Amino acid sequence: MKAEIIFTGTELLLGQILNTNAQYLQQTLAALGIDLYFQVTVGDNLERLKEAISQAAKRAGLVIIGGGLGPTEDDLSREALSRAIGVPLEENSKARVITERFFKTRGIAMPSNNLRQAQAPVGSVILDNPVGTAPGLAVENEAVLYVLVPGPPNEFREMVTNQVLPLLREKTGPRATVIKSRVLKLCGISESRVDEMVGPLLHSSNPTLAPTAKFSEIHLRITSKAPDSEKADRMNGEMESKVRDLLGNYIYGSDEETLPEAVGRLLESKNLTLALAEISSGGYLSHMVTSYPGCSGYFKFAVVSGIEGLEELLSVKITGPESAARILAGAVREKAGADIGIALAGGSKTLCPPGSDLTIATSFMEKTLSKKIPVPRSGAAEFRQMAAQLCLVLLWHTLKKM
Ligand code: AMP
Ligand code: MG
Repeated sequence: MKAEIIFTGTELLLGQILNTNAQYLQQTLAALGIDLYFQVTVGDNLERLKEAISQAAKRAGLVIIGGGLGPTEDDLSREALSRAIGVPLEENSKARVITERFFKTRGIAMPSNNLRQAQAPVGSVILDNPVGTAPGLAVENEAVLYVLVPGPPNEFREMVTNQVLPLLREKTGPRATVIKSRVLKLCGISESRVDEMVGPLLHSSNPTLAPTAKFSEIHLRITSKAPDSEKADRMNGEMESKVRDLLGNYIYGSDEETLPEAVGRLLESKNLTLALAEISSGGYLSHMVTSYPGCSGYFKFAVVSGIEGLEELLSVKITGPESAARILAGAVREKAGADIGIALAGGSKTLCPPGSDLTIATSFMEKTLSKKIPVPRSGAAEFRQMAAQLCLVLLWHTLKKM
């Protein structure tokens, strides 16, 4: 079964809110083995919404519309659907009961415009909404199933789980396929190098293998389509082994795992402690390191300051921008009595001035590793995050080799 999703709301197009409903519905469809080839976001405009629905119906047997079921003039999903399929709206008694119930249970009078929410195309099946005023609905027309779900995220989730999912399970029947993904996360390697290494595997059609670059990480998503969940896991597992044979040295984790977690686990297993000195990253590295709940076991402390402050706190003299990170990494390690010190320092007192160089360094025992990173002319704020991430990459690779 092929599906298309339409999200409606001008605020989504203006970037005022994030489309949090999308991910949830996409995952639900994938788990049911329903293919999603197109997803459209359209503003609160009757003509364009109607057009989006008509287009979707040409490409898919299931069209799900999220949002636009409120009581106001800009809630147009019912009307647009009615026009797109040429089926008139009528007041639906079940829908009216659901809308009225919301107000009755709260002991408030229902404004008359909420009656709009009781409208549905003739022949609709009404989907209950126990947490809001807008009922959902499903209606079949010329072999296409249209499903309307209200936009408020709590209502959307509740209704997708308890109303839409059972309906779709009924549709897809017991022979449904499942689509499952596994993401392998790599660091310290470029996307083009990954591309080169896994080359032929990228042409596989089931499972598929797709790389995406995220800051200084590469994520390789393996996706299998199979008759059941176990088979999909097995297929993903086989592909994972092939990828690990080629790139195992760069894979720090999978799925929800983050680099700070992977680093944290390595520090735990090797029984090593860590201290940080940051000049140019505004504490971002400390923020990342401490995002792992188990960090109190290995995290000694972090010093976030300008050059003078660090010189005073760590009792050192910085002799030049090139050596700053190396000196600070050693000094913070000693001061904290930690096994490893990491420092991140630019050649200036300000935070990552565009066009300058930033140096990161790790100090372990008597050994210091450092790396110079040029700060781009734009996007300095993001770069701070990137620089902190690169420290973790350097640390992860150092720990792996220990
Ligand atoms: P609507 O269904 O268009 O009346 O929207 C009701 C509320 O849900 C508004 O606050 C919207 O901003 C919010 N909303 C609608 N669609 C989405 C979505 N896809 N993701 C997150 N919030 C949404
Ligand atoms: Mg809206």
